[in-house]
Amino acid sequence: MDIVSFAKTKKEFRAGIKTETRRLWQDKHAARFTVGKIFQAYDKSPRSGGKCIGYGQVTKKPYKQWLHDMPKESLVAEGGRWKTVDEFMKEFDGDCEPWVLTFKKIQHPQQTTMCPECGEVGAAQDTDDKVVVYECSKHHNWTV
Ligand SMILES: [Zn+2]
Repeated sequence: MDIVSFAKTKKEFRAGIKTETRRLWQDKHAARFTVGKIFQAYDKSPRSGGKCIGYGQVTKKPYKQWLHDMPKESLVAEGGRWKTVDEFMKEFDGDCEPWVLTFKKIQHPQQTTMCPECGEVGAAQDTDDKVVVYECSKHHNWTV
C-alpha cells in the first residue's frame, strides 16, 4: 500500500480535519492516487522510523495547483495550522506547483487477503460497494 507521511499535521490527520495535502510529487507517483485508493498515513517518513497512524482514501483525482492560486478554504482543509497562504508557502520555501491530494480518513481496512498472483497481503480498495476489491503493492487486484 502506498504511504503518505504527515509529519507536521499528524494531529490534524488523526482528528480527521485534514482532508487535503500538497506534495511535490513526480507525475508518475501522483497518478497512483486514483479515486477510491486507500493509503497508509504515517507520522513521519518510514525511512526515519515513522509508523502508521491510520488510513486515508482518495476522494478526488489529484491535480496540480500553484500555491498563489490556493483558495482560503484549502488552508482549513490542510488542517488549519496556517492562517494565510503566504505563511503556508514557507513550508515549501516559496511559491511552487505541488500536487493536491484530497482524501478522507477511514477506518482500518478490516479484511486483508493474500494476492493470488504474488502472495502479498492486500487491502480492501473499495468499501462503499458490495463487491470488495483488494490490491497489493504491485497493483494486482482480486476479489474474494
Ligand atoms: Zn500481487
